[in-house]
Amino acid sequence: MEVSRQGAKGAKEKRNKEFLAAFAPLREIFIRIGELTLVAPVMESSDYLPISMLNQITYCERRFWLMYVYGEMAINAPVQEGIYRHERAHTQQTRQEDNGLVHRRLYIWSDRLRIIGFADVIEDRNGQLIPIEYKRGRRGKWLSDEIQLCAQALCLEERTGQTIPYGEIFYWRSRRRQRVDFTQSLRERTKAAIHRAFQLLRENRLPPPIDHEAKCRDCSLEPICLPRETRILQQTEEK
Ligand code: SF4
Repeated sequence: MEVSRQGAKGAKEKRNKEFLAAFAPLREIFIRIGELTLVAPVMESSDYLPISMLNQITYCERRFWLMYVYGEMAINAPVQEGIYRHERAHTQQTRQEDNGLVHRRLYIWSDRLRIIGFADVIEDRNGQLIPIEYKRGRRGKWLSDEIQLCAQALCLEERTGQTIPYGEIFYWRSRRRQRVDFTQSLRERTKAAIHRAFQLLRENRLPPPIDHEAKCRDCSLEPICLPRETRILQQTEEK
């Protein structure tokens, strides 16, 4: 389904306004992590990429575009479950737990990489910060979740000066924590995803559907994206 350029521009402006409005109350807050204080700046620009969008672009560039530029969000049962799970894990607070100090829903960003977002949970284990992301379902075959978590680590490193060697992803379905090492390779993949997102936005065009049946089958945006129909149309036009 193609959307007119005018419609896309309007949708993007609306999304930007909603996005900035969501962050407005947090712009000048002080966030304490251990002995470090992070001062969130006043961000006038909307050109910071939401960290969660790195998950989307790693999965599929067209999905990223549909969600970020066109503001599409299909609420099916798995998506609804994910929202519910996230809401439960997303009450902003800091408290002492068995593993150490636990911060929930922390606002993080990187000026160098131009990304912003929230970390679900950051644990402070004897001074070592460990970002933890909560996900519905089980670990997927793609690196989407790992890249999203690694981007959080890069933000934390920029804000605190501390090296973050690893993080963890908690999958609700399996109820297990998966350790993710922030290797040089994963860091490079994460930076490449950020670079690619800004490149696509500069190019300002909807990417074509991917040719990947399994991904499209699991994609909540499939009824909006119409990958098979779009491909057939493209092939017809090329003849
Ligand atoms: S249906 Fe397939 S091509 Fe379309 S957004 Fe989803 S994963 Fe991408």
